[in-house]
Amino acid sequence: MKRYLVNFDTDQLEKCYSDVLIIGSGIAGVYTALELSENFSINMLTKEEVEISNSVLAQGGIAVSLDKNDSPEEHMKDTLYAGAGICDEESVDVLVHEAADNIHKICHYGVQFDKNEKDNSQLALGREAAHSKNRIIHAGDATGKEVCDKLIQNMVARKNVSLHERIWAVDLLVDEQGECRGVLAYDETEKKYKVFYAAITICASGGYGQLYYYTTNPEVATGDGAAMTYRAGGELTDMDFVQFHPTVLYHEKDRSFLISEAVRGDGALLRNASGERFMPRYHELHELAPRDVVSRSIFSEMKKTGESHMNLDITMKDRAYLEKRFPTIFQKCLSYGIDLSKDYIPIAPAEHYCMGGIKTGLYGNTSIKRFYACGEAACTGIHGANRLASNSLLEGLVFGRRIGIQAREMVDSVGENKMPRFVGQEYTKAADAATDQEIQTMQDTLKRLMTKKVGIVRTQAELEEALATVRALKEQIKDLVNDSLDKMALQNEVLLAEQIIQAAILRKESRGGHFRSDFPNRDDEHWKCHIIVTKEGTEMR
Ligand SMILES: Cc1cc2nc3c(=O)[nH]c(=O)nc-3n(C[C@H](O)[C@H](O)[C@H](O)COP(=O)(O)OP(=O)(O)OC[C@H]3O[C@@H](n4cnc5c(N)ncnc54)[C@H](O)[C@@H]3O)c2cc1C
Repeated sequence: MKRYLVNFDTDQLEKCYSDVLIIGSGIAGVYTALELSENFSINMLTKEEVEISNSVLAQGGIAVSLDKNDSPEEHMKDTLYAGAGICDEESVDVLVHEAADNIHKICHYGVQFDKNEKDNSQLALGREAAHSKNRIIHAGDATGKEVCDKLIQNMVARKNVSLHERIWAVDLLVDEQGECRGVLAYDETEKKYKVFYAAITICASGGYGQLYYYTTNPEVATGDGAAMTYRAGGELTDMDFVQFHPTVLYHEKDRSFLISEAVRGDGALLRNASGERFMPRYHELHELAPRDVVSRSIFSEMKKTGESHMNLDITMKDRAYLEKRFPTIFQKCLSYGIDLSKDYIPIAPAEHYCMGGIKTGLYGNTSIKRFYACGEAACTGIHGANRLASNSLLEGLVFGRRIGIQAREMVDSVGENKMPRFVGQEYTKAADAATDQEIQTMQDTLKRLMTKKVGIVRTQAELEEALATVRALKEQIKDLVNDSLDKMALQNEVLLAEQIIQAAILRKESRGGHFRSDFPNRDDEHWKCHIIVTKEGTEMR
């Protein structure tokens, strides 16, 4: 019997039907909706308001080889290098070759990127860490907002798309033939469960940054898509690889505001408490080394000096330039009394991006029929062990559009009357159902544990300790009656934490975002592979 998060019987619930169901309203979900035929009816679920997503927060930009001195091949080379030997080359090839087309498409939807100051007919191309060429198109330092605002405007104007805010997908409904027929969902406004049936379901629910105490991700990023897929018997992969952003503002009032890589791309230097520029001691590319290297170097410098943070110095640029180039960052820092043109910015690394997720093929297809995934929820294999900066918004676009193409063949005659009945598994109600406060305490324990023991530097002993704690938490909540969104999020987070830790224990080497101080070297002979997990167990492929 399938294990669902809640007891239910679809016969007893309100039902909604559409040709396509999309979970999530970030760049991947919204662009996919726009790229699907307008002949399809589409239901889109999103956990909060439509504009609450990682996508909207994206600052730096989108990578695309537009310069005459650049090419998709150069972009591919940089992506493969950052990915540390385990990128899926076919997927990367698709990404870099379809990039420009998708950028033209979103410009057609009204997205405005900054123009080259010398030649207004060209887009301005910025540089970010580990890119060998200038290829980051941006809209100031609020690229995600500009892209999402314009795409959402276009989507809400489409008559075939029904947007359902504050409706949370809880579990996939997979029939006896192993085909996904939609989801069980919870309507937070009406406080009731509903069924969303569809011929195909597309998961664009983002990543799971909220598993960590320090993260740049918003509260909606609890990995629901990956957890639902696992419970439904689908494959997850690369859960061992989590990316930590090197430069997140370190301030008592804020633990999640990102200081974009573009600031280092523009010449900012990393300094320790004594004012020493320390990156030349760690890597030949200095501040522009790959993200994992910079994060580990900061972490190591913090450990060595006993400091809680390091500093980012962009004081070599004048105020007028900084206000224009980084308006959001400038104003945010100023609101905390930090003037970028005069003061160092206190920073520390924080969780930022999940390389792992639902295993997908070249058209967003997953191991479950009629179920697709794109964006950060998916693992297309393009990022390998470490994502190259500004490749993720692009991934959402490229693979979202590919699902749109594939869907033309998949949306067929699955009519309303063919939808099967689903009944949730019985749970025994725990005698001492947890209070909201207890749930929050458990969530806090989990986040601190993941940050401390499953973070930037890992060891066998600490991972095993973390696994024992997570399993104890899992036992504690196994009979929990899931009558609140926090309880459901906790179930998903505990499920994914266990998968991340198990994969991290298994991988006895260091590669990309996964660094083991007890196995500090990359070991291609034994570990040039992916760890795939399902309910049935773990496989190396
Ligand atoms: C601060 C920050 C800056 C970044 N800067 C860049 C950058 O410059 N360039 C770049 O390429 N990448 C950047 N990234 C990464 C990039 O933004 C994300 O990887 C990308 O936006 C993911 O898009 P998505 O559509 O897959 O998911 P998201 O944008 O995270 O959207 C997920 C959506 O799913 C919804 N959802 C989640 N669970 C459920 C559920 N159970 N039911 C219904 N809905 C659900 C959420 O509410 C949300 O609408 C940045 C990320 C952050 C946090």
